[in-house]
Amino acid sequence: MDLTSLDRIRAAHHRTDLAIGPGSAPLAGGTWLFSEPQPDLTELVDLTTLGWPAVEHTADGISLAATCTIRQLVDLAPVDGWVSQHLVVRCARSLVASEKIWDWATVGGNVCTALPAGALTSLAVALDATAVVWTPDGGERRQPVAAFVTGVRTTTLAPGEVLRSLELASSVLAEPAAFRRAALTRHGRSGAIVVGRRSAAGLVVTLTAGVTRPHRLAFPSFPGADEVRAAIEQVDDWYDDPHGAPDWRRAMTLRLAEQVREELS
Ligand SMILES: Cc1cc2nc3c(=O)[nH]c(=O)nc-3n(C[C@H](O)[C@H](O)[C@H](O)COP(=O)(O)OP(=O)(O)OC[C@H]3O[C@@H](n4cnc5c(N)ncnc54)[C@H](O)[C@@H]3O)c2cc1C
Repeated sequence: MDLTSLDRIRAAHHRTDLAIGPGSAPLAGGTWLFSEPQPDLTELVDLTTLGWPAVEHTADGISLAATCTIRQLVDLAPVDGWVSQHLVVRCARSLVASEKIWDWATVGGNVCTALPAGALTSLAVALDATAVVWTPDGGERRQPVAAFVTGVRTTTLAPGEVLRSLELASSVLAEPAAFRRAALTRHGRSGAIVVGRRSAAGLVVTLTAGVTRPHRLAFPSFPGADEVRAAIEQVDDWYDDPHGAPDWRRAMTLRLAEQVREELS
């Protein structure tokens, strides 16, 4: 849709162009920004002109630029040692959109939008990704994505901060993972997503979509069904919207978590 309050869209070419003050917001793929009115915005600052490489292989693993599109991530050639790379396409397909949106929607835009059904948030949290955030004073801070997304449409981003990248450690990428998703209708928005990851000794279970913010449940030794159930029963922020009632989301999450636990046992 036309954003009639905008005076301009400014292309950023250098970090110094990222002065994002009141009335200004970063623009990535624009698939959310242009999908609803933004009456408080007068300027968008285009991040895609910064030329960040979409995917970089580092000494410790992989760094995904915030501007990496979902298409670039899905099309990434098999990465040596990334045992759970199958999660990428499973998460991408969890977005309620045709594959056309993959060409524009970015990983960073998805995480920063912070919708419960943020499928790239599911991926990032499942892989213990670290958010690298550029601060307006020219510095940088790091935080697990599990803590970066704090609720429905809320993150820890302070005014003027920009998500630069997501870092994935090779030790985590080497761990086998299992994915489950439930939606009320075949092509409906995700109602519950559970990803399990078998760590050296135990299991990490992450819950998204059914809850208002990501939950990461870590079990130091491989848990039994009762242990996983008991941990999920402590969760008290089941999301409520037309895509699923809280009691349904809770029941689905419990069921999917047991499937994930069994698959990885
Ligand atoms: C038909 C349709 C279906 C959709 N289905 C889903 C769905 O199932 N789940 C879901 O989560 N979303 C969904 N969306 C919303 C949206 O498309 C996705 O969340 C997408 O990943 C957003 O990415 P983007 O790059 O287009 O972000 P943009 O629209 O460019 O930006 C989104 C928000 O994030 C901010 N932002 C972007 N990048 C950064 C950054 N690097 N640092 C700081 N702030 C930043 C922007 O200022 C803006 O507030 C859907 C959209 C459509 C049109």
